[in-house]
Amino acid sequence: SRKIVLASRPKGRPSAENFRLETGPVPTPADGEVLVQVKYLSLDPYMRGRMSDAKSYAEPTKIGEVMEGGTVAEVLESRHANFKKGDLVLARGGWQTHAVVKGDAIRKIDTGSEPISTAVGVLGMPGFTAYAGLLTIGQPQAGETVVVAAATGPVGSAVGQIARLKGARAVGIAGGAKKCALLRDKFGFDVAIDHHAPDFAEQLKAACPDGIDVYFENVGGKVWEAVSPLLNNFARIPVCGLVAEYNASGQAEGPDRLPRLMRDVLSKRLTIRGFIQIDFKDQMPQFEKEMKAWLADGSVKYVEDVVDGLENAPEAFIGLLEGKNFGKLVIKVS
Ligand code: NDP
Repeated sequence: SRKIVLASRPKGRPSAENFRLETGPVPTPADGEVLVQVKYLSLDPYMRGRMSDAKSYAEPTKIGEVMEGGTVAEVLESRHANFKKGDLVLARGGWQTHAVVKGDAIRKIDTGSEPISTAVGVLGMPGFTAYAGLLTIGQPQAGETVVVAAATGPVGSAVGQIARLKGARAVGIAGGAKKCALLRDKFGFDVAIDHHAPDFAEQLKAACPDGIDVYFENVGGKVWEAVSPLLNNFARIPVCGLVAEYNASGQAEGPDRLPRLMRDVLSKRLTIRGFIQIDFKDQMPQFEKEMKAWLADGSVKYVEDVVDGLENAPEAFIGLLEGKNFGKLVIKVS
């Protein structure tokens, strides 16, 4: 079996040296455990946080430990009553070809007529993040303007499409012309804006003539700076991620904008609420039911970026933080 471990902690942008590929024997499950073979490994921006030992909502990965990650896997050997050889399960298998996992911590997947990889994509954690964060905190109303960046990714693309299903206008922000075309042509965003454009902030202002009612925060950085002056009274801001800042080392430069922000929070009566998707796990059954129906009737679409081979995971992950992925990034492991 093969696995990728955290070799060292990155300073700033991760590099190949922070990862190490190791080989070893296939592990054996104990009572209550299951041996799985990983088929698809999900690569997600939160993994950058686990590589760092800065204080966060989850424990960091230890040096020498396998990189963690959600996987779609096949049961090879089961010592748990609920699973048998051949079952397809959702497991926190990590960046490896084989994993021993607790039977109580996995579940069988049912993606219906969709490919099994969607269990870590549109029908899995990222799709659920969009659904729960947007509907619970964002609460988009018909006719309102919803803005989201990283909009071609699995979270952002679902945010925009669900916003439109609720009758809102969706403005998507993405890097480059190809991604902007995808936003308009495949995901049905009302407007697509390239954040690399020199006049990005002016384009965003022109795209939001009635201001912004919901800003689903995925990135932070200069996108937040362009968004904040456009926020309407009573705007809602689900703070989901700050991917533009994950590779930052040290404080951002420039003036302290916190007093200005607090003034806006008060005078515009903003709701800014951070969340981790697991906070809303009670909504999971409802999400699965609704998302499956939207996929079946074509009202939600998704794009996957499938990279072949576990050994290519580090490079793909480094690229994810810089926008090199085109849709939900998954590694086809076996
Ligand atoms: P994506 O597949 O969208 O990948 C990240 C994208 O971020 C890149 O493709 C890139 O897109 C964009 N990006 C990177 N740097 C910048 C920048 N400086 N400015 C603007 N955009 C940038 O990721 P996901 O859909 O999986 O995740 C989206 C966000 O949601 C992340 O912040 C992630 O951490 C967060 N998240 C939070 C969860 C929670 O529970 N709170 C759960 C799951 C995800 P582009 O080329 O368009 O710039």
